[in-house]
Amino acid sequence: MQKMKVLLIEDEARIREMIKDYLENEGFQVVEAENGTVGLEKFYEASYSIILLDVMLPGIDGWTVCREIRSSSEVPIIMLTARGEEYDKLFGFELGADDYLTKPFSPKELVARMRAVLKRGTGTIARNDKSIFEFEDLWINMESRKVTLNGVIVNMTPKEFDLLCFFINNPDKVFTREHLLNRVWGYEFGGDCRTVDTHIKMLRESLKQYRNIIVTVWGVGYKFEIGGTK
Ligand code: CA
Repeated sequence: MQKMKVLLIEDEARIREMIKDYLENEGFQVVEAENGTVGLEKFYEASYSIILLDVMLPGIDGWTVCREIRSSSEVPIIMLTARGEEYDKLFGFELGADDYLTKPFSPKELVARMRAVLKRGTGTIARNDKSIFEFEDLWINMESRKVTLNGVIVNMTPKEFDLLCFFINNPDKVFTREHLLNRVWGYEFGGDCRTVDTHIKMLRESLKQYRNIIVTVWGVGYKFEIGGTK
């Protein structure tokens, strides 16, 4: 059985280690991040079953990380808060956190909470599957319109992104420039085909090492092909 993958974002090494050891013993796979920036990087690099997120972090705080994660994912999030810090439960839930735990907590209690949240589920896995396209180091979320390459966000123009999504949803089919203008730009007729070429060029530049997934079919148009001509 595949291990459940946990992303643990916590700046205190001692607590991180304690949680990691315990969770690994319980059969989870743990990916650690020592601050919010690293946490978000790790989040964009892979998919996780659950995220444990400390509120007080150096740099970007846990709230901001939570909001950012929620803009593209429904992965369960448990917030970890220190004793004495007033945890604003309502604020946390508004941001989309699923549960919270006040330190110090026993690892046993943490696992119990994690299992409860995981069991509750959100039915999101199925939903995410359709909107997320992953190929090696390329990650595309069609719902939140986010693209990352090696975990780094790629900035695209809206039409570039629409074009990419259209291709992803229609793999291995050759489209003429007119057809793309019609489907992606919504032009019934009379559009300038150079618009398509310009956007294909921009898109390929954005896709860097994956530029060749947009294949030119000479005399016809373009198609999207994973593992296309190198
Ligand atoms: Ca902290």
